[in-house]
Amino acid sequence: MQLRKIVIAIDGYSACGKSTTAKEVARILGYRYIDSGAMYRAVTLYFLDHHIALTNPKEVARALPMINLSFKVNAKGGTDTFLNGLSVEQEIREMRVSDQVSQVSAIKEVREAMVAQQRKLGKEKGIVMDGRDIGTVVFPQAELKVFMLADMMVRAYRRQQELLAKDVLVNLNEVLENIRKRDEIDTSRTESPLRKAEDAIVIDTTHITVNEQVDEVIRLAITHMVKQA
Ligand code: C5P
Repeated sequence: MQLRKIVIAIDGYSACGKSTTAKEVARILGYRYIDSGAMYRAVTLYFLDHHIALTNPKEVARALPMINLSFKVNAKGGTDTFLNGLSVEQEIREMRVSDQVSQVSAIKEVREAMVAQQRKLGKEKGIVMDGRDIGTVVFPQAELKVFMLADMMVRAYRRQQELLAKDVLVNLNEVLENIRKRDEIDTSRTESPLRKAEDAIVIDTTHITVNEQVDEVIRLAITHMVKQA
């Protein structure tokens, strides 16, 4: 039996384990993984480095065509984000980017540019994309939509450990405050606010392991593929 490839959209709050889950699900299924948050982070890095005034729509509109984003699979099987030909994978995870990214991603012109690229990347099925508006705006027709959430303190602790492992030194309060603020901006913005798509399946990751999260998404994906076969 040939299983037809599908699009898997994983949305949810910051630091719920979306990327970790999406990456592993993509690896198991042999799908392409796209981290849409990395795209907003790379744009933010460009704006910071080029002193683009976020409140000046003309400046933002002029800067956007100067930004070329691409992705390459690295030696460890993960995906690195490239900004104008240079790997920025490490820099886009820094707190200076995390502190500004939600303001940048709330700008209409930025979202339009990113959504257009994301749709292009997902034209062929067989992708797992994680973000905030994948199931609601980018791929409303995605065959499987997952919405992840978890207790805020658990999220902050996990994110801090993840950053420390990458040699990004941060304290727990700083991470907690960043997550709280991003959730607030991401859910209340006018343009494509973070919300659960009506047909998304909720996974609360507070008390489950990464393996359990991955298993659940794989189970849902296979159930869907078998049904449509
Ligand atoms: O996924 P990650 O936490 O790296 O995303 C960083 C930020 O990018 C989010 O807090 C949000 O402001 C923005 N984002 C978004 N839409 C997406 C993905 C990320 O607005 N699809």
